[in-house]
Amino acid sequence: MNQPSIPIIKDLVLVGGGHSNIAVLKMFGMDPIPGVRLTLLTRDVHTPYSGMLPGFIAGHYDFDEAHIDLGPLCRFAGARLYHDSAVGIDTENQKVICAKRPAVPYDLLSINIGSTPRLANIGIAQDEVVPVKPISNFVSRWEMLKSRILEADRPFRIGTVGAGAGGVEITLAIQYALKQLLGEADKIELEPEFHLFYSEPEILSSHNYKVRKHFERVLKDRGVQLYPGNRVESVSDGRLRREDGMEVPLDEILWVTDAAAPAWLGEAGLDVDEDGFVKVTDCLNSPSHKDIFAAGDIAAVINHPRPKAGIFAVRQGMPLAKNLRNALLSRKLKPFIPQRMFLSLISTGDKKAVASKGEWCIHGGPVWRIKDLIDRRFMRKYNSL
Ligand SMILES: Cc1cc2nc3c(=O)[nH]c(=O)nc-3n(C[C@H](O)[C@H](O)[C@H](O)COP(=O)(O)OP(=O)(O)OC[C@H]3O[C@@H](n4cnc5c(N)ncnc54)[C@H](O)[C@@H]3O)c2cc1C
Repeated sequence: MNQPSIPIIKDLVLVGGGHSNIAVLKMFGMDPIPGVRLTLLTRDVHTPYSGMLPGFIAGHYDFDEAHIDLGPLCRFAGARLYHDSAVGIDTENQKVICAKRPAVPYDLLSINIGSTPRLANIGIAQDEVVPVKPISNFVSRWEMLKSRILEADRPFRIGTVGAGAGGVEITLAIQYALKQLLGEADKIELEPEFHLFYSEPEILSSHNYKVRKHFERVLKDRGVQLYPGNRVESVSDGRLRREDGMEVPLDEILWVTDAAAPAWLGEAGLDVDEDGFVKVTDCLNSPSHKDIFAAGDIAAVINHPRPKAGIFAVRQGMPLAKNLRNALLSRKLKPFIPQRMFLSLISTGDKKAVASKGEWCIHGGPVWRIKDLIDRRFMRKYNSL
């Protein structure tokens, strides 16, 4: 016998399949609210898991191991999956404007679209450098880079701009992967030069002294030249120029600097911070638009600012899901205070990693194995439904 269909009373629209919205999908799949229709609008159907990205580039994980397939997750949640990018919000009429498809109406909106390295405002054209995000673009560029290096008649010169955890990890992952690749092809004489540029006096400026010194040693041992204390001012015709006038010719320049937000969020009238990130209360909704929630890199929690890191996006997933449910059921929202001290597991590309927390630093193969276990367990939650 056919079940009587339940009328759609409310539309919950998730924009971006980031680390927080996937938790919303999972929780609503396990405990749906009758009459609430879920829709995920996302630029990428395979969303990369940040913790496994460097391991994916280094060649320790294949694509499926390091990405969450949002198709099965949406089916599990009973959600519609729209493969497109949001480019605006009509907050008055409660509609998300999409790049290609018709606008998507919402009663409640949850934005979790991540961030990209800052390139606007500093006068560096996108085609001169390779932004590490969006990762899907970076992955295809990485495949091309490997082929170019294998076919080259001299060693490449690769530069990374930005020496936070992302910049350091990606440089070491690439160095490791290329060394293996060239070794297997019997072309080790083509092993590239690596150059790391940053404006701070030291790498990994938000980590403790022992972590910084350990990574400095690893980078030097692996032949990476360090260029501290100067901003990159311009890149033109393959020449990178620092503020002090130093110029370095490079064949490939990876851009892994501070995160930036798209302009359309502020243009929609949302309350945003000076960098364009959506301001949110402790309950993860916008103070200017109570029907709009945000989490992960794109959110700026007004009372508890934290670095842009996947771990915070993951931690916000559960409270976000609970508060979306509370809002849909007209219940009181609950505040969430993110932890101040957190454990970072930063890999060195060679199946070793460093654990960093406060003044604490441990490194080696066992740290990588623990990180690998944690990351695989996280992925199983979303890929084995
Ligand atoms: C090389 C590198 C290594 C890193 N390593 C770590 C690490 O080990 N640990 C850690 O904690 N952090 C790490 N980070 C930081 C981490 O990647 C980010 O903090 C994290 O991915 C943010 O998660 P998110 O959920 O906010 O967004 P994301 O994971 O970026 O997800 C955003 C989602 O939104 C979608 N999307 C984007 N724009 C739109 C749009 N306009 N419309 C619709 N959909 C859209 C995307 O397709 C994607 O599915 C690393 C970053 C880099 C660059």
